[in-house]
Amino acid sequence: MTGTAPAPFTADDYRTRMERAARTAADAGLAGLLVAPGPDLVWLTGYAPPAETERLTLLVLASGRDPALVVPALEAPDARASGAPGLTLHDWTDGQDPYAATAALLDPSGRFGVSDNAWAMHLLALQKALPGTSYASLTDALPMLRAVKDTAEVELLAAAGAAADATFEEIRKVPFGGRRERDVAADLAGLLRDFGHAQVDFTIVASGPNGANPHHEAGHRVIERGDMVVLDFGGLRDGYGSDTSRTVHVGEPTDEERRVHDLVREAQEAGFRAVRPGVACQEVDRAARAVIADAGYGEYFIHRTGHGIGVTTHEPPYMIEGEEQPLVPGMCFSVEPGVYLPGRFGVRIEDIVTVTGDGGRRLNDTTRELVIVD
Ligand code: ZN
Ligand code: ZN
Ligand code: ZN
Repeated sequence: MTGTAPAPFTADDYRTRMERAARTAADAGLAGLLVAPGPDLVWLTGYAPPAETERLTLLVLASGRDPALVVPALEAPDARASGAPGLTLHDWTDGQDPYAATAALLDPSGRFGVSDNAWAMHLLALQKALPGTSYASLTDALPMLRAVKDTAEVELLAAAGAAADATFEEIRKVPFGGRRERDVAADLAGLLRDFGHAQVDFTIVASGPNGANPHHEAGHRVIERGDMVVLDFGGLRDGYGSDTSRTVHVGEPTDEERRVHDLVREAQEAGFRAVRPGVACQEVDRAARAVIADAGYGEYFIHRTGHGIGVTTHEPPYMIEGEEQPLVPGMCFSVEPGVYLPGRFGVRIEDIVTVTGDGGRRLNDTTRELVIVD
C-alpha cells in the first residue's frame, strides 16, 4: 500500500469516520475493530505507515472509548504528524512486548473485527496473549464500511476518472502494431503519472488471443495488425482510485469483431442504466449479463460485472449474482462486462459509476465506440 497518499480531509472527517466505524462494529456485535496498516487505516485516520514494517502498528476502535493507536516508538512522530488528532498513541520500543500493550486495551472475552491485511504473525500473538478473544474478517463483518463515499470522495474519484480518460485519449494516438504489449503498457503508466497518478496499480494490454484472458498482464507479444487489444488501467490519484477499460482494434475490424464489441457496449450501457438507489447490486450484474446471454455469448462472460473503488482499486460492494446489498447514493463501483473468446480475442468496456439520488453518474466518459488504432 506504499504510495496511498492521504487524501485532503480534516481531523473532523477522520473523527466522524472512526466514531461511525466503532458504532457500526458495536451494532454488529463486535467488541471493537483492529485495523492494521493499509487502506482501512488510511481511510479512518489519514495515516499511512511504511507498509514493509514488521513492527506491530494497530488502530484499536471500540465504541465509547477513545481511538487508540499502538505504534512503534520510532514511527510515533510520523503518526502524530499525519494521523488524526484525537488518536491516543500507545508507543512501544524494541524489546517491549507490543501484544501485552495491545491486550491491555481489549475486552479479554471480546470478538473483534480485524482488517484483512493484518499479518498472521500479529494476530496469532494477540490470540496467544488473550485466549478468550475471537476474531472476524473486517470485510466480512463490515463490508460497507468504506462503500458509501461523501461528496469530497466522489469528486476525488471523478478527478481520478478524468485522468484515466485523458490517458485513453492519448494512448489511442500511439502506434500499436509492431510494438510489444509491454511497450504500450509502459506508455499507459507514463500517461497515468503525467495526469497526476502517484501510484499505478495495473496496465493491462491484452492483444489478440491474450485478450481472451481477463487477467492477462502486458507481455512480450508483438501486437499485430488485425488484433483486438483490451486496455485496462488504473491506480491512485490524490489517494483515490481509477480503473477503466477500453478495447481498441489495430486497423479495420471484421464484422464479428464489431458485433461482439457492440454487444459488450450494449451490456455496459444496460448495467449502467440499472444503477439507482435501492436496487440490489446483483441487478446491475443481471442487467449487463442478460444482454450478453440473449445474444448467445453468456458462457463467454466469465467474471462479475463490477467492484467497488475508493482508497483502493478493488473493494466492496461487488456487482455479482447473490449480492443483495441495495445501492445507496455515494457508492462508487465499476460496470465492466466482457466477452472472452478462447484462442481468439476479448472485449471489455469498463467505467466507474457513482450512485446519485435518482440514478447513476459515469466517472469515465471517453467514447465507448470501437476505436481504430495504428
Ligand atoms: Zn481483428
Ligand atoms: Zn479494470
Ligand atoms: Zn475493474
